[in-house]
Amino acid sequence: MEKGIHLSIVTPDDIVFDAPVNYVGIPGTLGDFGVYPGHAALLSSLRTGCLTYKTEDRTVNVFVSGGFVDVTKDNVTVLADAATPADLIDVDRAARAKERAEARLKEQAQDVDLARAHAALNRAIMRLNIASSTHE
Ligand code: ATP
Repeated sequence: MEKGIHLSIVTPDDIVFDAPVNYVGIPGTLGDFGVYPGHAALLSSLRTGCLTYKTEDRTVNVFVSGGFVDVTKDNVTVLADAATPADLIDVDRAARAKERAEARLKEQAQDVDLARAHAALNRAIMRLNIASSTHE
């Protein structure tokens, strides 16, 4: 049998990806880690960041935010709050989200949830970075 990993990326709305790959790079809450075929089993929470998978002919960056990844010998299952391949990221929307979050953080109003605004800013910046990385 050909050696590979079956990668599934699932969000509450969608099956974002479900196919064999050769490698997956994962932004875990305790740090980034790479998974090749035959990896030891592990369960990790995800942070907002860039998941990368490689197939024979391409490398794809995927924005992910929140959730978990379950790694077994031949399978990587990502259950994320949000997951968007770089080429499907709406750059204008992310730029607007970034401006909104920055404005909220600048206001310093009593009713602003700072942690929420920081998290939104982080998501927006990460989306913009990942979207621009496709045009290298
Ligand atoms: P916004 O304020 O624009 O909704 P957000 O960071 O609060 O941004 P999320 O809560 O992370 O958005 O995601 C909500 C849904 O919208 C998810 O399905 C996510 O994939 C999608 N989404 C959010 N921003 C973008 C974007 N820039 N491009 C593509 N999909 C996006």
